[in-house]
Amino acid sequence: MKLETRIVHAGRAVEPGSHAVTPSITLATTFEREPDGAYAGDVYTRSSNPNRTNWEAALADLEGGAAAFAFASGQAASAAVMQSLSVGDHVILPADLYHGLRYLVKNVLARWTLRADFVDMRDPENVRRAVTPQTKLIWVETPSNPLLQVADIRQIAGIARQAGALCAVDNTWATPVFQRPLELGADIVMHSATKYLGGHSDVLGGALVLNDGAGELVERISVSQKLGGGVPSPFDCWLLLRSVPTLALRVRAQTDSAGKVAAFLASHPRVDVVHYPGLPSHPGHEVAARQMDGFGAMLSFQVRGEQADALSVAAKVQLFTRATSLGGVESLIEHRASVEGPDTQTPANLLRVSVGLEHPDDLIADLEHALSGV
Ligand SMILES: *Cc1c(COP(=O)(O)O)cnc(C)c1O
Repeated sequence: MKLETRIVHAGRAVEPGSHAVTPSITLATTFEREPDGAYAGDVYTRSSNPNRTNWEAALADLEGGAAAFAFASGQAASAAVMQSLSVGDHVILPADLYHGLRYLVKNVLARWTLRADFVDMRDPENVRRAVTPQTKLIWVETPSNPLLQVADIRQIAGIARQAGALCAVDNTWATPVFQRPLELGADIVMHSATKYLGGHSDVLGGALVLNDGAGELVERISVSQKLGGGVPSPFDCWLLLRSVPTLALRVRAQTDSAGKVAAFLASHPRVDVVHYPGLPSHPGHEVAARQMDGFGAMLSFQVRGEQADALSVAAKVQLFTRATSLGGVESLIEHRASVEGPDTQTPANLLRVSVGLEHPDDLIADLEHALSGV
């Protein structure tokens, strides 16, 4: 069946006892044992819970994976992948990487002797050159945050396979509606479900989906989830599953508008450059068109001038909300360098935009007004 049909039903079934059409929330942390000591199903909610089981089933279905693991945040999910590695292993990560993971790798995992190289993945040859005999993981983020750089998943997954390493892809920005990394050869898909999967800026979540349902990786991730304990609450899982049936509708409408906003910005004299893979002028446009079914609703642009000029545009918007995060129904704008902190590599005149579900004409009018004063 098609994705639109599957996402309405994934992880949902009429409940046997109550005949409820939507799942109820099981808040219980503990479950009764049979007189003989056996458990009929769940034991303890850190290990499993009916709402988490439903949400994980939906995740596996969405990404076409064999196993899915829900976490309390995207960072908890990424950390579990890193915990699956061993002392002395080498990982290759993108130079334009979600800043939270860059800090985790540099500040925490480095102390556990995880060795990491950050390379520009727009050219897969840079990845090939960075491979060492100790390389065990190649982490891809495409389109990347915040520069919307595009990496060729199929090629990089091939390099990983040759090197005997795993390939993980952060698919947060593209969503499985537009990009399915496991079909392109990746081993692991990671999501910050806080973003498009949740879709309403009201729940934090993370996920890992694996192409292999058995084997050592599944075991290691499962242990990190259940014993590390960074799991989402039953209510979080319920909210996240509730958002899944509207995912395709939301991201397609948001992407239509993002294309219009990007075209407007690209033609504006006070904008130096627009980073959006849907623009034919974007260096990653061809690869994105090949591996994605849509270009997504995230973009960034550089205001002509300095940091102060970008900040003054952000100060003047009225419809966009000045806030971090993305993927919700409301449009957000953010001066990215100042939220990333002193270690940032993001240009100081860059603003990142998450396009919501408002009418694109209103969004464009708001930006036009904000840019007119620069
Ligand atoms: C937000 C984000 C993360 C981190 O996820 P959290 O849910 O905030 O922990 C990772 N990768 C990308 C691309 C993100 O946008």
